[in-house]
Amino acid sequence: MNKPDRLRRIEDLARAVAYRQALIRHEYWTRTRLEELQQRRLARLLDWAARRSPLYRELASTGRLSRPFNLHDFPIMDKKTYMERFDEIVTDPRLRLSRLQEHMACVSGDEYYLGKYRVLTTAGSSGCKTVVVFNRKEWSLQEAASMRIASMMGVVPFSRRRPKLVTIGSPSPLHDSYRLPLSMDIGLYRYHSLPATAPIEQLVEQLNTLQPYIVRGFPSMLGILAGEQTHGRLHIRPSIVAGGGEPLSRELREQVRTVWQASVFDIYGTQEGLRAMECEVDEGMHVFEDLGIVEVVDEDNRPVPDGNLGHRILFTSLVGFTQPIIRYEISDMMVLAPEPCSCGRPFRRILAINGRNDDVLYLEGSDGRRVAVHPVHFWDVLESFAEIRQYQVVHEPDGLRLRLMTVEGNGGISGMVSEQMTQKLRSLGVDHPSIRVELVGTLEDRSRNMGKWKNIISNVHQEAIR
Ligand SMILES: [Zn+2]
Repeated sequence: MNKPDRLRRIEDLARAVAYRQALIRHEYWTRTRLEELQQRRLARLLDWAARRSPLYRELASTGRLSRPFNLHDFPIMDKKTYMERFDEIVTDPRLRLSRLQEHMACVSGDEYYLGKYRVLTTAGSSGCKTVVVFNRKEWSLQEAASMRIASMMGVVPFSRRRPKLVTIGSPSPLHDSYRLPLSMDIGLYRYHSLPATAPIEQLVEQLNTLQPYIVRGFPSMLGILAGEQTHGRLHIRPSIVAGGGEPLSRELREQVRTVWQASVFDIYGTQEGLRAMECEVDEGMHVFEDLGIVEVVDEDNRPVPDGNLGHRILFTSLVGFTQPIIRYEISDMMVLAPEPCSCGRPFRRILAINGRNDDVLYLEGSDGRRVAVHPVHFWDVLESFAEIRQYQVVHEPDGLRLRLMTVEGNGGISGMVSEQMTQKLRSLGVDHPSIRVELVGTLEDRSRNMGKWKNIISNVHQEAIR
């Protein structure tokens, strides 16, 4: 790391500490005051986009957007369109997607681009990798949001006893689970990042040495580690265990509580800057609505009332000016709580995230019609078996393959799993489901997707079934 970069990094983090104070103040505001802040920030963002982003400037100059701007008049952006038009969306003409891709190919740590930007990319679990660019102030806000998450877990910077925090996440500095700790690692907290792609034995050994106070990781990884602890190979005593990046099931939460007697927190985040975090009181994750606006919508992008399951969300970042993110499609299907939380925070809560809509499998029903099978139906059946540690549903042209990693000595459940799954699918209208159960020792290879895990995989061209 060269010296100017180190100085920049310290400045960015100092700014983040100040931002953190402001963010924490917002947690004591009323809903009305928060909504006023959102509207002020939104007006500034939309105005900025219409002046500085070629794409939005064009829409404004041809009358397709008119002042005063209304968020709902702005076009909805899917990831593919967003990336195709990336060069027209960014507000600094020096940022060109092709150049950013060259930069990303060489990033090995916390390097700046053009001396002021940090460039991240998504894992691409929905098939389209997106690129996100933050200027230094925007990055400080990401750091501040990450400090808010830590403080909601009861960890504050500058505390005399700096607790040791281990994140088992993506091994790539292009992913925020790795990059944020890296950029903040100048002494406020004691951070360690371990790659989720490493062999389990190696992770166990490192964790045994580190003895973390907080462990953060993908829930699928936490489940495996809980099993390692149960079997006497892992010996850690974390006080806080936090999951993120994948759904955290009720069963896993219970398992983690039992194994480690730790407080469990669920964290939701996207690389684009949408973040949500559980509080200590009620169910659900508070959306950081001072930093962004979330619209839960149905398949046709019509608003879905709180308390109901949407098909996707539209996210608008209130603090991203380098790269305006306005009504940006995220394929998570979620339910927002209709009631405020009893902790008093003004932020709405995500009550449930039922997977991604691109995890929906289309199976053949009677008369050849397509039956949409939501991931929740697989969870329902498979998570009712305590013996199953982890699973993967693979849709093949000749049927479904259920790959199960079970607790040792529980090989006898195949028949029961197959029978219950058949019943479930029949109840949904799939008349003759073809199911194969495979018991496997490990469920390989996280390396393809930045360490993330995919429960549902389709090897069938979905168009093929009508
Ligand atoms: Zn709360």
